[in-house]
Amino acid sequence: MALRNITNYQNDDILRKQAREVEIVNNKILTLLADMVETMYAADGAGLAAPQVGILRRVVVIDDGTELIKLINPVIVEAHGEQQEMEGCLSVPGVYGQVKRPMKVIVEALDEKGLPVHIEGKGLLARALCHEIDHLNGILFIDKVLPGTLVHDDIAQNPAKK
Ligand code: ZN
Repeated sequence: MALRNITNYQNDDILRKQAREVEIVNNKILTLLADMVETMYAADGAGLAAPQVGILRRVVVIDDGTELIKLINPVIVEAHGEQQEMEGCLSVPGVYGQVKRPMKVIVEALDEKGLPVHIEGKGLLARALCHEIDHLNGILFIDKVLPGTLVHDDIAQNPAKK
């Protein structure tokens, strides 16, 4: 495993591109997943999407504090309710803002064996799933931040970074 460099929205156009589906879960993808997990923990993040380490593939990792989740080709198939919380991003360092997200989502994806999995996320996990899947579509939380709620590091209450 190895740490990878985290892309920054000010320098890296890759964060604005559409990531490609993974067709075969091969060793390259497994290494990518392992490196992303290591990089996420090293950066003290709650989630990481492959474009954030410069790879345009539909791969995400999330740890909401309860479990580590690794997903390939994740798709939101159901969304329910609404929540509004502070959000941050490892690729947008030092900036936080309020974002509306569904309270609960159901996501379909592949696991590390290439088998279909069904994930139900509520609260923070729902937010993380939405945030990471947005990354696969070139969308950043700052695109969705509620007007007037953007703040910088010094006054934010250190919300989870993804
Ligand atoms: Zn992010």
